[in-house]
Amino acid sequence: MAIATINPATGETVKTFDAASTAEVQQKIELAHSRWHSYRKTSFAERADWLRASADLLDAEADEVGRLMTTEMGKTFKSARAEAQKCAKGMRYYADHAEEFLADEPGDADAVGASKAWMRYQPLGVVLAVMPWNFPLWQVVRFAAPALMAGNVGLLKHASNVPQTALYLSDLLLRGGFPEGCFQTLLISSSQVEAVLRDHRVVAATLTGSEPAGRSVAAICGDEVKHTVLELGGSDPFVVMPSADLDKAAEVAVTARVQNNGQSCIAAKRFIVHTDVYDAFAERFVARMKELTVGDPFDDDTDVGPLATEQGREDVEELVDDAVKAGATVLCGGTRPEGPGWFYPPTVISDITKDMRMYLEEVFGPVASLYRVADIDEAIEVANATTFGLGSNAWTDDADEQDRFIADLYAGQVFINGMTVSYPELAFGGVKRSGYGRELSGHGIREFCNLKTVWVG
Ligand code: NAP
Repeated sequence: MAIATINPATGETVKTFDAASTAEVQQKIELAHSRWHSYRKTSFAERADWLRASADLLDAEADEVGRLMTTEMGKTFKSARAEAQKCAKGMRYYADHAEEFLADEPGDADAVGASKAWMRYQPLGVVLAVMPWNFPLWQVVRFAAPALMAGNVGLLKHASNVPQTALYLSDLLLRGGFPEGCFQTLLISSSQVEAVLRDHRVVAATLTGSEPAGRSVAAICGDEVKHTVLELGGSDPFVVMPSADLDKAAEVAVTARVQNNGQSCIAAKRFIVHTDVYDAFAERFVARMKELTVGDPFDDDTDVGPLATEQGREDVEELVDDAVKAGATVLCGGTRPEGPGWFYPPTVISDITKDMRMYLEEVFGPVASLYRVADIDEAIEVANATTFGLGSNAWTDDADEQDRFIADLYAGQVFINGMTVSYPELAFGGVKRSGYGRELSGHGIREFCNLKTVWVG
């Protein structure tokens, strides 16, 4: 895939970049590695100052970088600006809390015959981050902010369609005060990733993206015995039970499905509704999906902009066509509009059966599938039926049902009467083929640390 900014609203190529040469990549790895030896000795206070200064710059430049993100991957400008602000908040969160998250943990010295014993979190070194385009700032910041606060240094291989956002971020951290080499962007293609992962100076990797990409990075790192965190795809269930507030559930369902033009790993994708309220929920949900405005992502009135890539739209169309051919019903949307740009309308599909690809696969666009279920057992069975296990949502006012969903939805997170959101304060990650490891909260910052046991006789 060419490294280029291609405006998804028009299809126009705005700017192209040459991939870095092997020599350039080597130079950056060497700079990262030598920088780490001094950077790891900086104090939490110094790192926090640099991160807070970066957050202040980001807040001041939210419009500028928001325009960049919208131009590169098509999210609405209002959501791009909000993403920049969320990143600034995430940076301040780790600036404030890193030291307490990584404080020494006391051990039982008497039990192990020591005069003193404890466990200390130390940074690992140079970590490669392979990141997706869908939240081009936030996905990176939720790795970079804790990693830098822990004393690691980062190399970023961003998705090929968001090179300018990638370069903006490494420059931002430099302007915030981080020493040169702490966080660098490598403009490389995915075929150049293996050499970086196998370099002895790179000690760990994190990848957010699709299952094939995750599998490849994890296999190489497995071969090299290097730690990885994988944040992969999802096909989150959104279960609606009879006691739910249907108006509220339908309103949130729309946001949960079409956020980021339908391209979020934690978007609710499968709407699993108890038969007693199925028709009432479907009517409300479809009516709201039809009301959404699709169009220019820079327009304040737009709810849904284009999909980020031409291939992305073709993938969505293929899944919808496959379901329709096998007998699914299109309740709204389902056909691409005429004209330039990679737009796809908010779409709701019902009568999904197990032989349709959509039953198991992730649809990365504004397409919702509706399932009618007889009771909570069937709801949980359908919810857990995919190979994914990222987020999950259940709507019910019944306390016993809430407990049941919390216990039995097989996912990295469960949201009751709300939609799955990533918060700096809460751990984020998946099970099954949605990946492993955790980001955010105290758990996220400890992922790229060496927990060193200290025993003093
Ligand atoms: P993708 O194709 O896997 O790309 C993600 C990143 O991996 C890009 O930087 C890409 O580079 C790189 N890449 C692709 N193939 C690779 C390989 N074989 N080896 C090394 N790197 C490789 O994913 P995407 O289509 O951009 O993103 C959508 C997917 O990400 C969805 O499945 C979504 O659910 C998932 N996602 C998950 C989370 C989460 O937190 N769990 C968050 C956001 C998105 P190029 O661009 O150069 O190909």
